[in-house]
Order: sequence, then structure tokens, then C-alpha cells
Amino acid sequence: MQILKEKEALKKQVKALKKARQSIGFVPTMGALHEGHLSLIKLALSTCDKVVVSIFVNPTQFDNQDDLQKYPRILEKDVEQIEQISGEVIVFSPPSSEMYGDRISSEKFSFDGLEYQMEGKYREGHFNGVGTIVKRLFEIVEPDKAFFGEKDYQQLQIIKKLVEKQGLNVEVVGCPIYREPNGLARSSRNERLSPEARQTAAIIYQILQQVKEEFGTKSAKEMSKWVTEKFESQPGLVLEYFEIANAEDLVSIQEKEINKKYRAFIAAYAGDIRLIDNIALN
Ligand code: AMP
Repeated sequence: MQILKEKEALKKQVKALKKARQSIGFVPTMGALHEGHLSLIKLALSTCDKVVVSIFVNPTQFDNQDDLQKYPRILEKDVEQIEQISGEVIVFSPPSSEMYGDRISSEKFSFDGLEYQMEGKYREGHFNGVGTIVKRLFEIVEPDKAFFGEKDYQQLQIIKKLVEKQGLNVEVVGCPIYREPNGLARSSRNERLSPEARQTAAIIYQILQQVKEEFGTKSAKEMSKWVTEKFESQPGLVLEYFEIANAEDLVSIQEKEINKKYRAFIAAYAGDIRLIDNIALN
């Protein structure tokens, strides 16, 4: 398997692939790969001639330096996991200088308001960081298709908006959330949870499922109250936000309208570990 560190080396490969009319699938990640990431890679492999996986812990999307420092970095193990699926994947694992030179900073984007909802309220500058790195990676990889998880649903909507606004010729493919057997959404951060906390955190998905069940009969306000109380009675978990929002523009629901799609979103802390999850309601 090829592991490239320099963008010029990758650009060269991309040029050769384009010349040979090979379609390119791209899966951007921050590494510490788990089944969720691997499901994206498998989907990319099944629909594209060649797949590029980037592994880069992007400093500009972290608003919390402690989280950035503690983020797991296990490149060798990541490569092994990819190799078990396919030896043909190109892994791009650049040092920070390749992506940012000697100035680590974000560009400023407008995502037509998507950036002010949910994560945007709690993680300052996060989506400018995401936009910056994904735009730069797209310029290098020039993918036909790029695969993003619904686990980070707001990010998925933001990337679709980035592609639309920048006029990029990339199909953004949303992929279903991969869960642990107890329902907890897989995340690289789960590795830092104690076994007890990992069990407790499964309640996040149980709550989302309950909300989905009651969405037809209860108002958003009633459900919000119920979710808040449920978290208050749950030791070990602290709710940061619960929202029911339009699945397209992510604006919080006022009145349910027919023919509109909605999703419920939760961000919560288990100790110092921040977890997010969401579910389609209709
Ligand atoms: P990350 O390494 O956390 O930046 O994630 C890289 C990509 O994998 C993003 O598109 C995520 O949405 C996606 N991803 C992470 N966890 C999951 C999961 N449990 N199920 C599906 N996709 C996921």
C-alpha cells in the first residue's frame, strides 16, 4: 500500500489516474480508524476505481487545545486496518507543514447560516477549520466522489454547501452512522471512555430512538423538556444541547411542516469527553 506524505507526490498520482480515466474516491479522516471510518472506505472502494484516504489531525478545527493534544495518533495501526480491506488504497498522511506551511490558520467561509447552528455555537471557528482543510485536500486529490459520515451530520451539510459555493466538481456522499453493539455511535474519542462510561453513553442513542418514536405525537418543546430531564437524572453524562432541526438548513424546528425532513441532534459530555449523535426523525 502506498503511504504518501507530500502533496506533490499525491498530485502526481492523481494526474496519472485522471489520464487513465480512473475515478477517484476520497475519504478524509483524522485517523484512529474504527469500523465507522472503514465502512466509508468500503463504500468508496465499491463505487470508485481508486480510493485515497487522508489521515491528518487538523489543528484548525479544534477549539480546545487539550482535545487536540489528546487526540489519538496511531498511523501504523490505521494503515494495518486499511490493508486488511485493500492493499490498493492510497494513504495520504501529511505533516502539518504540507497543509499549512508555517502559518496554521483558517480561511473564513460563509455556509449560508449552517455554520451558526449547533456545533457552530459551541465550537468557535470549527467549521472554518473544516472548510479550510477539506478545500485544500479537494484541490490536491480532485476526487470524483468524497465520502462523509452522517455521524457528523452538520459537517456533511457544510461540505455539500462548500462544494456548491466553490463550484467544485465533487459528488458528496453521505454514509450511515456505524454504531457499537450497544448503540453508541463509533468515534475515535470512545477509546478514551472507561468501560462504565462507554456503557452509560449508550443512553444517548436510546434517547434519540425514543424521540423518533414520539416525534409524531409530541411537540419539539415537550421532547426537549423530556430529554433535558432524562440527562439530569443520568449520572456521568452532561447534556450540552438537544435540538430538533430541519435536515437541510439545520434551523431549529418551530412548527412541524409536512414534506419537510427533520433530525434530532445531541451533544453531551461523559467526563471531559464530548460525544455527538443524531437520528433521522421522518
Ligand atoms: P473523523 O476522523 O472523526 O474526522 O471522521 C472521518 C469521517 O468518518 C467523517 O466523515 C465522519 O463523519 C466519519 N465517521 C466517523 N465516525 C463515524 C461513524 N460512527 N459512522 C459513520 N461515519 C463516521
